[in-house]
Amino acid sequence: MILFDLRCQAGHSFEAWFRDNATYEAQANAGDIACPACGDRHVGKAPMAPRIARSRGRASAEETKQAAELYRKLSDLRAQVEANSDYVGPRFAEEARRIHYGETEARNIHGEATDSEASELKDEGVKFARIPWVPRGEN
Ligand SMILES: [Zn+2]
Repeated sequence: MILFDLRCQAGHSFEAWFRDNATYEAQANAGDIACPACGDRHVGKAPMAPRIARSRGRASAEETKQAAELYRKLSDLRAQVEANSDYVGPRFAEEARRIHYGETEARNIHGEATDSEASELKDEGVKFARIPWVPRGEN
C-alpha cells in the first residue's frame, strides 16, 4: 500500500491509500477519486513534502539533525519563492504558457501543476522548476 497526498482543483488536500501507483493512476484517470471536502473528481497528487521515515524510534541524532536541516532549507526556499513570485494556484500551467508566449507580462509565478501539465510545459520548452513544498510555519 502506498499513501499519496492528493489535492483537488479547489485546493483541498487529503490523503488516500492505494495498492500501488498504477492503481492510483487508473482510479484518478477514471475519475473514481473524489475530494472528501467538495466532491471534485479532478484530483492530482499534491506537491511532495519530504516524509521523514521513522524506523520505530531508531532515527539517530545525526538523521534527526539532517532531517531538520533539510526541512529548514525547504522552508527558506518556500519563503523565498513566496516573497518573489505571484501565486497562481492550479492555473500555473496556463500562466506559465502565457508568459512563455509573451501574452502577458513576464514575471515570476508559482503554483501547482499536475504531472501531465508539467511534462507538456517541458515539451513546449517552458522554463520552470518543481520543488518540494513544505507546510508553512513550523519552528
Ligand atoms: Zn475539494
